[in-house]
Amino acid sequence: MTKTFNFNLENTYSELPEIFYQKLTPNPVAAPQLVFYNEELGKALGLNNEQMQHEDAVAVYAGNALPPNAIPLAQSYAGHQFGHFTMLGDGRAMLLGEQVTPDFKRFDIQLKGAGRTAYSRGGDGRAALGPMIREYIVSEAMHELKIPTTRGLAVVTTGEGIQRETRLPGAILTRVAASHIRVGTFEFAAHFGEIEELVQLADYTMERHDPEVKQADNPYLAFLRNVVERQAGLIAKWQLVGFIHGVMNTDNMTISGETIDYGPCAFMDAYHQEAVFSSIDLNGRYAYRNQPSIAAWNLARFAETLLPLLGKSKEEALEYAQDAISEFGPLYQKYWLQGMRQKLGIFGEREGDEALIEELLTLMQHYHADYTNTFLALTYDKEEDFPLGRMDEFINWKIKWQERLESQEETKDASIKLMHEHNPALIPRNQWVEEAIEAAVEEEDYNVAEKLIHVLKSPYAHTDVQKEFAKRDYDTGTSFQTFCGT
Ligand code: AMP
Ligand code: MG
Repeated sequence: MTKTFNFNLENTYSELPEIFYQKLTPNPVAAPQLVFYNEELGKALGLNNEQMQHEDAVAVYAGNALPPNAIPLAQSYAGHQFGHFTMLGDGRAMLLGEQVTPDFKRFDIQLKGAGRTAYSRGGDGRAALGPMIREYIVSEAMHELKIPTTRGLAVVTTGEGIQRETRLPGAILTRVAASHIRVGTFEFAAHFGEIEELVQLADYTMERHDPEVKQADNPYLAFLRNVVERQAGLIAKWQLVGFIHGVMNTDNMTISGETIDYGPCAFMDAYHQEAVFSSIDLNGRYAYRNQPSIAAWNLARFAETLLPLLGKSKEEALEYAQDAISEFGPLYQKYWLQGMRQKLGIFGEREGDEALIEELLTLMQHYHADYTNTFLALTYDKEEDFPLGRMDEFINWKIKWQERLESQEETKDASIKLMHEHNPALIPRNQWVEEAIEAAVEEEDYNVAEKLIHVLKSPYAHTDVQKEFAKRDYDTGTSFQTFCGT
């Protein structure tokens, strides 16, 4: 044990039955170096940012030393990967414990890339620097876009190379999450545990994320409903900013409703319903348009795990589960429509709104228009700057849109304000993220990434610096591919 850097850890997860984890001994690395530290997050967690960047803290991020009260463990989970059920578990992650903040919030502190565990199978338990920077940048951007997500507190390089297709610098990400409990954690409990263990997992998770459901007539059903509601809200937010997760396996879907595991993810540039970037997603299972239905599918797998707890009889449980899952579609649609109206400065609800929105999206798809920039052009009233803006079909659409705005009581200024608040000035364009990673990996230059992270802060502020940065070149995304960070 080393000094305190004011981590204030507990590890309540280790009080669950033993099937849910394997305790670990740290796997030290050769020469850790801190390359990113998230001061804003540190502050939110109640940490002393100066101490947290000291070499004693860096040793913790590297897995070379343990902070007080840490109980390092790898979590067990299973999951449906591309539709197929498999046993998984943390093959390269180590949960140290939960940071309890000064206002008594609880966040998992996990080291991703910390070495082999009982669940590593053939893997080396390590992570390459590139994918860890990618997760750090994109999760921070998501947070700034007001989308629930895990976040990175620190990235360290290990001073060790790891073997992939080529030799790459190794790194460890300190990941902060409301919890790392996944749909796959429940699948693990349902398939490999006793009913009592499933109950304990459910009770524990409810205590952490949904303590109020304990008062409900049917607490487990209320819990399921909350998870469905959170995911409907989350996926709507992804769709509204054009985020494609890339690998929505059930082990990559949290119960907390946070986005997790930024592997082959990407933001789309040109709008396309079928957009898919992941090199391993050959059939487009996780394409942009499929994300809502995949989320519903994953939630059905979650509901199945709860069946023994949901009702007095099998029939009753099944009916409750089906009802809860059937709520996903309408909830998602409600959140999505609400978000789209806001992006277009629309107040209230009218029957023609959805058709108006769909018409715009269809035009964007047909003319390969940039998703983010089309909404920005409308927000800044500068459509003529974009190829789509000069098309007759678009001009006709715009007349209908303006009629809709003029027919509402709210002023034009109120609409413009609403649009600024819901259309980001910029998103983490794939090419910018790649450039930042390349500078870091090839030249040990972390400034490119720091600058990008900086400019991506508060994207709804629409500062001059953001507007200028947003004009930078980027590939339209048609040939862009992302790879799993293994
Ligand atoms: P992911 O695609 O990152 O969600 O990971 C899927 C599964 O593979 C999880 O069980 C991971 O822990 C495991 N895994 C990924 N990379 C490695 C690695 N380098 N070594 C061991 N296990 C890994
Ligand atoms: Mg995963």
